[in-house]
Formats: sequence, structure tokens, C-alpha cells
Amino acid sequence: MHPIVRQFTIYLFTFMGEYRFKGHLVEELFKDYRIKEGMKACMNCGVCTAVCPAAEFYKYNPKNIINIVARKNEEDLEDLLKSDTIWYCGECMSCVTRCPRANAPGLVIMALRKLSMRSGLYMQSEKGRQQYVVVKDLCSNILNYGYCVYPRTFDYETHKEFGPVGKWINEHLDDIHARLGSNLDGDGPGGLRRIPKESLDQLKNIFDVTGATELMEQVLGDAHNEAVKENMSDEEYFMSVYTKNDWEKHLNH
Ligand code: SF4
Ligand code: SF4
Repeated sequence: MHPIVRQFTIYLFTFMGEYRFKGHLVEELFKDYRIKEGMKACMNCGVCTAVCPAAEFYKYNPKNIINIVARKNEEDLEDLLKSDTIWYCGECMSCVTRCPRANAPGLVIMALRKLSMRSGLYMQSEKGRQQYVVVKDLCSNILNYGYCVYPRTFDYETHKEFGPVGKWINEHLDDIHARLGSNLDGDGPGGLRRIPKESLDQLKNIFDVTGATELMEQVLGDAHNEAVKENMSDEEYFMSVYTKNDWEKHLNH
């Protein structure tokens, strides 16, 4: 489907309180090989939750997520896909290495996130809407420079947690990188070297064939539509999404 047609359809669905795959979420989810492979018989041992670093800080329990997916209940799955829960995972894969039944909760979460985005349900959660920040900043850096964090696009104003030292580093980038021996934007080997265009083209091809480009376009389009609805510019919407963080709701202590 053409990106503009797809975006219009999603916008219309959202406006009508509808979403894509309504009534077929379970069917769609179970087409994903990560679900097919990852949903072996869970015995509710809780090892995944015990080793999960995200579960220590967030109201998050990978074992419960596996249980919800295994139930194959359409309403429960819809609730999960529009919740913040699936965005708490750090994708560290500690759970995958420890599950005695060879389940893969981390990969199940990945599949859930993808369906949440494709269906449009991710726009109903605070953490889901923050995918706009990930796409606009990190994914753009990967495609343009070959790095998810690239020093020249690092904006101190949106990362004040780095404090005055971070600000100073930001203002003296070339000097600092020269002193540390990195090869910032240089040719040849070394940290932060310039990634050749052929490699960046290959990266773009990978994004295209895996569907990442399509998802990125969808997220950018959804964010723009939401900004229009909220009477904001895209930049204002970006900052509102980026700074909104209901800690009380997310943290488990
Ligand atoms: S991949 Fe996600 S669910 Fe698994 S241990 Fe890491 S943070 Fe937890
Ligand atoms: S570690 Fe594996 S078997 Fe145990 S609760 Fe988690 S998914 Fe189920």
C-alpha cells in the first residue's frame, strides 16, 4: 500500500476509534516467527521475571506477558498492545538465555511492539508515542551516519541530564575527540570514523526489506497527525512526547 494511503487509513481508523487488525490481533501476532518459536509451553517458573533488569524498576513482568499471549484472547491482547507495559523491556535478552523451556520473552516483546505499531495501538500509550523520538533521533542517526548516537546531532538542550560537563564536551567536540584519539568523521579505521556511503546504502536496504522503513514512515506520519490534532508544530509535539514521563505510573517503587 502506498505510504500516504496507508497513513490516511490509519488516521481515519484512529479518528473513528478503530485500529488495524481489529478482531484479528491474535491471528496476526501468531504469524510472527518470534511468537511461533517463542511460545513453547511456559511453566510459569518466573525465571524470566527474576533475571529481568526492567522488572526491577518498572511495573513489568515478562512471565505475565507470556501468559497473556498464550491465552490467545483478543481483548487481553488489545489491552496489552495499547499499554505502556510492552515498552518497558530493554531488549537485553537475559530472559532468553535463562528460560528452562527455551521460550524467548524478549523476542515475544519485540513481536508485540511491532504489531502495536502496525495496528496503530501504540499511539494510545505514553511510551508507545515515544517511538517518535526513537525514530526521529536514533533511527535517523543510523541511516545518516551509521551510528545510533552520533556526537554532532547530540543536542544538549534535550539531554540536560549530562550536566555542565556534557555541555562543555558538546561545545568542544573536535578538541575532545582529537585528544581521546577517536577518528570522528575521519577516513580509515577508528571510533566514530565516517561510514562509507556504500555501507549506509546497504543499511538503508536492510531497513527497506525488513519493513523498518515502512514502520518509521508510519510513526512519523502518526506523530504529524497527532501534532495537527493537538494544534502543535511537529517540534512542539516532539518535545511534549519527549518530556512527558509519568514516573508514578511506570516505576514499581
Ligand atoms: S529482554 Fe526484556 S524481558 Fe527479557 S530480561 Fe531483558 S528487559 Fe527483561
Ligand atoms: S522463564 Fe520461560 S518457562 Fe519460566 S515463566 Fe518465563 S517464559 Fe515461562
